[in-house]
Amino acid sequence: MKDGFGRNIDYMRISVTDRCNLHCRYCSPGNIAGTKETELLTFREIVRVVEAGVQLGITHYRVTGGEPLVRRDCPELIRQMRHTPGVESVGMTTNGVLLADFAGQLADAGLDSVNVSLDTMDENEFERLTGSKSLSNVLEGIQAAKERGLAVKLNTVNRGETDWRPIAAYAMEQGLLVRFIEMMPIGYGKTEPCRPNDALLEEMKESFGQPERLRQRFGDGPAEYYRFPGAGVTVGFISAMHHKFCEDCNRVRLTSQGSLKLCLCYGEGVDLREVLRIPGRELLPVMREAIRNKPREHCFGNFAQMTETRAMAEIGG
Ligand code: SAM
Repeated sequence: MKDGFGRNIDYMRISVTDRCNLHCRYCSPGNIAGTKETELLTFREIVRVVEAGVQLGITHYRVTGGEPLVRRDCPELIRQMRHTPGVESVGMTTNGVLLADFAGQLADAGLDSVNVSLDTMDENEFERLTGSKSLSNVLEGIQAAKERGLAVKLNTVNRGETDWRPIAAYAMEQGLLVRFIEMMPIGYGKTEPCRPNDALLEEMKESFGQPERLRQRFGDGPAEYYRFPGAGVTVGFISAMHHKFCEDCNRVRLTSQGSLKLCLCYGEGVDLREVLRIPGRELLPVMREAIRNKPREHCFGNFAQMTETRAMAEIGG
């Protein structure tokens, strides 16, 4: 459906938990209590939101968290979502730690694609950043997902000290697309420097030569892609801070507690869990009205206007 600014909203990111098995410094450093199970949406409730979403023209979905795979029966949710009539794709964003265990079940359930977050190729830095010695598990998870035929992309947050070279080299070697994401001032991200992706692009030009800007889209997101013919690598940039893309925004988010979130910047959402749990209340008009009122743009440039105070892991990045 179109929102109040004429944007076509066809994509929903669904968080299934706010718990995570990594404690990334800028996302979920370890002090998030975790929602009680009774307060999480059940799979049936999530699927009811998806069914209503399809009626509104939302046909692409991505499951995220926290870490989605810590909700261990996640493949069953993927199966139910993917088999919902009208759903065209279901992807997942994961830190990859448990992916080797689940890749087969996820592929069998019909998952289309997986985006794996990978901020460093250095084991010690990985441990410093995430509090866990599990880089090798992530790399095994990527292999397993590829072997099971899932479309894999890498997501790397541009943390300022990010050394993009080993990640680009790994992406090249594995034939994967990698996207660099500007740090957003959400939760603990507020305390991190935000290095513009343009600075990375300049460094890449120095190493790889002049790129070609691709018009092609690879998925539902706002990444701008550049191909470096000299190096045979394609790199994406998601630059919410320095190249705001709100006028093309196509997405809404559902938190694990059932709040329909219309923009990352604002804490206010529409409580769909309440609607789902009160007999006789109708979901569709509530969702339609919420999407019609989606804010025009984010306000990351002016912290004073931001009303979102939760960590990214609690929202579902
Ligand atoms: N646990 C899963 C994962 O690691 O992919 C899914 C949830 S995590 C919140 C989703 C993505 O959000 C990760 O790639 C993470 O690096 C990114 N992220 C977290 N905080 C961020 C911030 N402040 N700015 C930009 N990206 C952020």
